[in-house]
Amino acid sequence: MLSDNITRAPDGSLCFAGQSVPVLAKKHGTPLYLMDEERIRANCRMYLDAFRKAFGDRALPLYAGKAASFKQMYRIMASMGMGVEAVSMGEIYTALSAGYPAETVYFHGDGKTEADIRFAMEVGVGCVIVDNEHELELVSAEAAARGLRQKVLLRITPGIDPHTYEAVNTGTVDVKFGVPLETGQAFRFVQQALALPALDVAGLHCHVGSMVFDEDVFERTIDIMVGFMACLYRTLGFVTRELDVGGGYGVRYTEEDKQADIPARIAAVATHLKRLCTEAELPLPFFLMEPGRSIVADAGMTVYTVSTIKHIPGFKRYAIVDGGMGDNPRYCLYGSKYTVLHADREADETAVFDLAGRCCESGDILQPAVALPADTCPGDHIAVCTTGAYNYSMASNYNRLGRPPVVMLRDGGAFTAVLRESVEDICALDL
Ligand SMILES: *Cc1c(COP(=O)(O)O)cnc(C)c1O
Repeated sequence: MLSDNITRAPDGSLCFAGQSVPVLAKKHGTPLYLMDEERIRANCRMYLDAFRKAFGDRALPLYAGKAASFKQMYRIMASMGMGVEAVSMGEIYTALSAGYPAETVYFHGDGKTEADIRFAMEVGVGCVIVDNEHELELVSAEAAARGLRQKVLLRITPGIDPHTYEAVNTGTVDVKFGVPLETGQAFRFVQQALALPALDVAGLHCHVGSMVFDEDVFERTIDIMVGFMACLYRTLGFVTRELDVGGGYGVRYTEEDKQADIPARIAAVATHLKRLCTEAELPLPFFLMEPGRSIVADAGMTVYTVSTIKHIPGFKRYAIVDGGMGDNPRYCLYGSKYTVLHADREADETAVFDLAGRCCESGDILQPAVALPADTCPGDHIAVCTTGAYNYSMASNYNRLGRPPVVMLRDGGAFTAVLRESVEDICALDL
């Protein structure tokens, strides 16, 4: 199986985190997001242990909340001792509502509004990751007005192509995030920040992209960032106390995908960073990474019920389900691959189906060309694997479909972490 939390019972029905998927589907209805809480915790532990081994207490993984943001996620992060990265007032508010401490919230984003910045400082977020020169002025003005010194990191674009999908490539020079090194703008950005007394410039941030598998992407990023740190130290006397290299380790969506050995990669990144800092005679900065997908993706599964089978002889078979691009837009957006399994049974005879959603868009496909039992019929349950990241968090109400509930699986039991959206919920803001 794709991941060791996905198994088959002796009768052929699918289990997730050791629990029967058809039974959960009957109890909670479909479409349904299932989340394996123990897997989320194990993934956090993997980062925390690797960080501790490599850096002692001089490092912290920040969970990138955009991957899956709801209160229970932040309760898990608080209890695990993870930092958190937030991109909006909504994500910060969700974290704090769940009792997550503001001090370890790092506030990100390329288009923060003045209202966002005011809110973030009002609630006392630990760090603002400043994306650009204009934002520097906004953060500085807000901090000065409050009579405080706000800790900030400065987002630099190192100019690295992580050899990944263009749509999720954020490290090259002409992207909309951060301030590029290549053009000399990054240096002036740091100078400008250091001249603002209401800002405590703790260090630098970068993020080169998502679904990174290439072995040396972070090493190459660190080559560039340490080079810049050395330049800042020589010319401005500025010591980088914190270095945040962003998120991005890839996960397995299909059997063909590689498995990234994240602990081994972190150990190699640490060795590289220490060597470069020693050579440049720089103190080792406090080290941060921002994993999102690799914390939650394999902890998620989405379950649907087949509404209709449509066979166009000589062309195609569609299995049309009760969800679609509203709960998982990733195939529509990026052509993302997924592993699709029949949740009720296995069969010797299979046929190829396009798994289609119920939205009024011909592009509403969850996954093309999947092999399912040839006799798949209305009422059957279908599971899409590895949907823990960027599914619930990217869900919409297109066609006024309610978003599915999130049901957490833990200790052999299940509890609802996010309720199913009802038609009344959907109308709640209409006047
Ligand atoms: C999206 C994002 C992350 C998380 O990336 P993953 O691929 O989910 O690990 C981290 N940092 C920043 C700045 C991001 O934009």
